Amino acid sequence: MCLFCDIIEGKIPSNKVYEDENVLCFRDINPVAPTHVLVVPKKHFDNIIDISAKDDGAKYLDACAKAIATVAKAEGLGTGFRVINNCGEDGGQTVNHLHFHLIGGLKLTEKII
Ligand code: AMP
Ligand code: ZN
Repeated sequence: MCLFCDIIEGKIPSNKVYEDENVLCFRDINPVAPTHVLVVPKKHFDNIIDISAKDDGAKYLDACAKAIATVAKAEGLGTGFRVINNCGEDGGQTVNHLHFHLIGGLKLTEKII
């Protein structure tokens, strides 16, 4: 069972902001900024290591990059934003379906943490 696969399949509702053939973007249920969108490939990959090892991984990574650009523009983040990927236990990953956090709408500092 994977929470984000269930969201992609519509079994669990989400606040969708963008969707195409390969990617779904929806608002994080626990936002840390005015814009906090999760960018999720529609195919299940466990994490960034998994997707980098798969033949079709590049296609989905490209879709994520383009979706980040599209959503950032739609959210009015022309002056900047941050993209975060948590990988693995020590990386703070809690949902084991690769996703990127798109965070913006506030002045972020240079510090990552
Ligand atoms: P990570 O810790 O990088 O794996 O991020 C998982 C993110 O998913 C967290 O920021 C959660 O707030 C978010 N999240 C968990 N369940 C849901 C849900 N049902 N809808 C939207 N976001 C969720
Ligand atoms: Zn999944």
